[in-house]
Amino acid sequence: MFDKVIKNVRLLEKDELVNVAINAGRFASITEGEMTGQITWDGQGGYLLPPFVETHTHMDTVLTAGSPRFNQSGTLYEAIEVWQERKQDLSIEDVFQRACQALQQLLAHGVLFVRAAVDISDPELTALRALIKVKKYYAGKIDLEIIAFPQDGLLASPKNQERMRKALECGADLVSAVPHLEPTREKGIASLQFCFQLAQDWDKAIHIFCDEVDDEHSRFLEVVADLAIHMNNKRVTVSHANALAYYNDVYADKVIRLVQQAKISVVACPLVNSMMQGRADPFPKGRGLTRVKQLHEAGVNVCLAHDDIRTPFYPLGTGNILQAAHLGLHLAHMSGQKDLRDVVEMITTNGATCLDIHNHYGIEAGKPANGIVLPAANLADLLSEQPKPMYVFRNGELLAETAPVETTYHHEKITT
Ligand SMILES: [Zn+2]
Repeated sequence: MFDKVIKNVRLLEKDELVNVAINAGRFASITEGEMTGQITWDGQGGYLLPPFVETHTHMDTVLTAGSPRFNQSGTLYEAIEVWQERKQDLSIEDVFQRACQALQQLLAHGVLFVRAAVDISDPELTALRALIKVKKYYAGKIDLEIIAFPQDGLLASPKNQERMRKALECGADLVSAVPHLEPTREKGIASLQFCFQLAQDWDKAIHIFCDEVDDEHSRFLEVVADLAIHMNNKRVTVSHANALAYYNDVYADKVIRLVQQAKISVVACPLVNSMMQGRADPFPKGRGLTRVKQLHEAGVNVCLAHDDIRTPFYPLGTGNILQAAHLGLHLAHMSGQKDLRDVVEMITTNGATCLDIHNHYGIEAGKPANGIVLPAANLADLLSEQPKPMYVFRNGELLAETAPVETTYHHEKITT
């Protein structure tokens, strides 16, 4: 007799239905045979996946859309203006409440590993302090990693260099830079050199907001890859890399090889990027996504992330990362059966590679019993319907439960 049994579930790598046993908070056995538990959850033929991994979001700006006003033009410039106004009112309590509300939403959607950027341009580091409280509050349920993120640049706003160090002292987990927002190419490179040196001094992972611009001249990805190789930092992620889509194929091929060699993870954010990018393009407009399929085929670890939820930068979103996967597979032209599976891996195991959490991630006997049971009979259903998980559990304990949606028809059934 096991503590718990999850019966009638499908794993991503196996077509047959299996039963999965949990003992003392860990997966104990996975088999097609019968088993009994003190508690049984019926997966009803749905998927049992490890929890979703959100590799790029923001918990300081989250759920502020409309406050003090909406971004009516939808441009990055108006978003930054609106956020400048809103951030005057930040308090620990304000950030704490909104971040907790957003994490509850993510949890209901099966996201239990979250990497969030926090703007450190504020001398008091109010948002960072609030998020460190949030991180402690959710410990054991959601793992929250915090990126110290210099929204206004490190050279454009030199005081941010000292604030980055202060943020690390306060407990930020990763360091960052935004090279394409620095005033010149040279200052962009200097910001990356600063960031890599800081990471080395503090033994931290790096998450660069890189080339989020529809401009073939924004060429910082090659610099990130070169620094990662020469400073031997194996924990480097870049987000966005939109400019890569605009490079000519010869140069793009060179950069992708470097990224692969450097073992950098690339995070694409289809919802936010498709909304924000391509606006200034003449028709036909860019798709607002980096070369996801090409990077993936070259062996690069590619992740898809939801990014903003209801902020001046992006007015929509529920935290449902399946929406990002759904849009991402359209924009990346990944509609084959293997593609659908690869896309699901971009929000699960590839995210775990990015966060370097493989030793406690995955549906395997002996690993912590962390998982989600999704009501979908196949991957096309899962990605089309984007359902909330029926069960979300951590160390074998149920954290959230959502009954699958069922429609009652009030008209006569069509018979053929
Ligand atoms: Zn973002």
